[in-house]
Amino acid sequence: MKTATKCVHWLGGDEDAYGAMVPPIYQTATFRQPNAVEFGEYDYTRTANPTRTLLERQLAALEEGAYAAAFASGMAATTALVRLLDSGDEILAGDDLYGGTVRLFERVLPRQGIKVRYVDATDPAAVRAAISVHTRMLLIETPSNPLMRIADIEALADVAHRAGAWLVVDNSMLSPCLQRPLRHGADVVIHSATKFLCGHSDVTAGALITNDAGLYERIAFQQNAEGAGLSPFESWLLLRGLKTLALRVERQNASAERIAEYLSRHKAVKRVFYPGLGTHPGREVHRRQATGNGAVISFTTGDAELSRRVAESARLFAIAVSFGSVNSSISLPCYMSHASVPEDLRAQLGPPADLVRISVGIEDVEDLIEDLDRAFTIAARLAERCAASIGK
Ligand code: PLP
Repeated sequence: MKTATKCVHWLGGDEDAYGAMVPPIYQTATFRQPNAVEFGEYDYTRTANPTRTLLERQLAALEEGAYAAAFASGMAATTALVRLLDSGDEILAGDDLYGGTVRLFERVLPRQGIKVRYVDATDPAAVRAAISVHTRMLLIETPSNPLMRIADIEALADVAHRAGAWLVVDNSMLSPCLQRPLRHGADVVIHSATKFLCGHSDVTAGALITNDAGLYERIAFQQNAEGAGLSPFESWLLLRGLKTLALRVERQNASAERIAEYLSRHKAVKRVFYPGLGTHPGREVHRRQATGNGAVISFTTGDAELSRRVAESARLFAIAVSFGSVNSSISLPCYMSHASVPEDLRAQLGPPADLVRISVGIEDVEDLIEDLDRAFTIAARLAERCAASIGK
């Protein structure tokens, strides 16, 4: 089955005892056991729940993986995975990552004796040079958030495997509709399912997907032991969101390509970061491993105050963190999604203060371009007024 079909039908999804088109929510914490010494298929929702199992099976099918585990957020998923490491182990991570991931790596993991180093993941030779005998995990985003850098999944899988490490790819930016990292050699895919998978800004969720049975056993153990598995209701909402994933992504992707072109021609824009543009340095690698460019675009204006005014002048693009929703949004990563990067690392890794990130929703693209156009005009007018008042 193709991905768009798997969003609606998937093996195991049509098995309801009463033929329900929509699976019921098993909103229960406990399950009656067959007797006092046997658990039965399900016994306690922290361990497993039928609604969550349906979701996990669908997520695995979409990512072309054998196993998936769903968590209460993307960060809960990442946390469960890094808990598999021991004191003295090391993570090598891409140097452009979601700020919350950097916060976990910088403020939590060192207390457990796990060291994280950062490397330019767009350069396999640099990664090869940086990986060490202590590296257990190479973790990347491609495209990365927020600078949309592209890493070569196949080349990095080779580097990681030669060093005895796992390649972990955060695929939140594209969704399995556009990129399936396991196919290119990744060992684990992470999702912030809060983004495109949910698509409606009404669920926080995360997932880990893998083909490795042993690794999955350990992840499932962690999910049960620490209790961060996704609740039945959130699992059900996510199952609903997934049905329209392919449609949403197709529309968002098409609109984003037009908006990226528009931005690249705008005189107030200094630089556009979007892998669909011919000028993007990672374009060829991206084309080999992904079938679309996604709906997140970043750009700079050269002036942090102007960027702020553009964000604050938009109407359809709501000022909000996160991305991937049906609603378009606009943010200043330096002050919002990446404000949690510890200060000492911010100068080295942090996004520039004039960086604007937009997430393109499913609204009419003409309306979205008009909204941005208006926002640029208002922002320029405000800047002129401000300059004139300073000159007085
Ligand atoms: N990965 C990426 C690329 C993200 O952008 C985010 C959140 O913005 C996360 C992971 C964390 O996901 P969550 O917010 O669902 O915990």
